[in-house]
Amino acid sequence: MIGRCRSVVLTGLAGHVIDVEAHVARGLPAFTIVGLPDASLAEAKDRVRAAVASSGVEWPRQRITVNLSPASLPKSGPATDLAIAVAVLAAAREVDATRAAGLVLLGELGLDGRVRPVRGVLPAVAAAVAAGHRRVVVPAGNADEAALVAGAAVTGAVALAAVLRALGADAHAESEVTVRAPAGTPPEVPPDLEDVRGQDDARLALEVAAAGGHHLLLMGPPGAGKTMLAERLPGVLPDLDDDEAVRVTAVRSLAGAFDAASGLVRRPPFEAPHHTASAAAIVGGGSGLARPGAVSLAHAGVLFLDEAPEFPTRVLDTLRQPLERGEIVLHRAHGATRYPARFQLVLAANPCPCGMFVGTGEGCSCKADARRRYLGRLSGPLLDRIDIRVHVPPASRADRPGEGSAAVAARVARARAAAAARLAPHGWRVSAEVPGPWLRQVTSRAACAGLWHAVDRGALSARGFDRALRLAWTLADLEGAGSPRTDHVAQALGLREGVR
Ligand SMILES: [Zn+2]
Repeated sequence: MIGRCRSVVLTGLAGHVIDVEAHVARGLPAFTIVGLPDASLAEAKDRVRAAVASSGVEWPRQRITVNLSPASLPKSGPATDLAIAVAVLAAAREVDATRAAGLVLLGELGLDGRVRPVRGVLPAVAAAVAAGHRRVVVPAGNADEAALVAGAAVTGAVALAAVLRALGADAHAESEVTVRAPAGTPPEVPPDLEDVRGQDDARLALEVAAAGGHHLLLMGPPGAGKTMLAERLPGVLPDLDDDEAVRVTAVRSLAGAFDAASGLVRRPPFEAPHHTASAAAIVGGGSGLARPGAVSLAHAGVLFLDEAPEFPTRVLDTLRQPLERGEIVLHRAHGATRYPARFQLVLAANPCPCGMFVGTGEGCSCKADARRRYLGRLSGPLLDRIDIRVHVPPASRADRPGEGSAAVAARVARARAAAAARLAPHGWRVSAEVPGPWLRQVTSRAACAGLWHAVDRGALSARGFDRALRLAWTLADLEGAGSPRTDHVAQALGLREGVR
């Protein structure tokens, strides 16, 4: 006798529908799972058997073989428990095998028969629906999340007994199957730029960074407001489009950092890992299925590294791959896992280890070489990708409150629209993505002259030339100027050379 149903396994954000097939034969009672199970799947045997018994259904006293296919796919974690239980009981004809065969089931089983929430339900259900399987059963705790997938017919299950009863079994437990629709709660109000007093240069830098997608370095003493500024960058960025919203939400689902009640994530995320965080927490990793780290949680949003020189060099070095490719590849014994990781990087740094080197440096107690070493930890290849570097001076009592985020966001949106109209035919969205040679060809000779002059003076490197040129285009877009003039170039040099 054979029982079948389906489940989904994830590699990175990619979901694969798998067939769960159970075979029940006469012979000495045994329970085998085949199809590349890892250690946690072996534990699944105990959970499944105990959960079935706790649901008041007799475990078949026969020779049971469960096959998860395709066998080539690495399978990890407890999300296939529920499907294994249902397939076994379908094979034993304890539940309706035909109805079971039409279901995709996800969920971890507790020994008491409870259906526990699992990670990654959103990408898993999206994969099931994309493969033509609309009827999905998920843990009740994940039902809101699953219901975000258009076209999914979601059943949220509290207990195995309820699932079995719905499939015709005589199962009993104090539980029920519930179907839930996503609840709409208003999104959290992000911090506003009007809270930032003074800091005209840094505010301009933030606006330009938002408009052109440029990475940003903020340098200044502790308490100057670097973190306040960085936290306000997502608030002036445009909403995520539908594809990005699903991707950003799916990464959070997989990381277990997702609140289903607020629906799809529509605003650019902000991630600020501490410098003591593990490399796995920042780039992703862990045993078994590699989990997304901060670089992926920041996808389509902002990754903020406060006190950037304090991060271990090997962690800073791992940022180069996502900065270049917009994704991170995590290598594991059973293969590579890819996660999206296209973020806007904001680094904050004190001017020296003691933090007090401001102006002439009178308040600083650091030796010159200690100061050099400190900033030297931000390696050249990383700094090369940072278009904007500005000083954030200590706050002063005379500082006035600034413009609010809404007004800045409106200018950013206009500038982005202008850039997109020019760049979209070439496959780029913002100036920061445009290669230097192409940009040099489309810039007027007069505008370029100011930059060549800076190169001749030795004030600008060849790489610095392209970065300043990208900034000049973004400044022109913010002004609606069509193309950069010499004053945009001068302003760009200021943003670029703000920190030596
Ligand atoms: Zn110092």
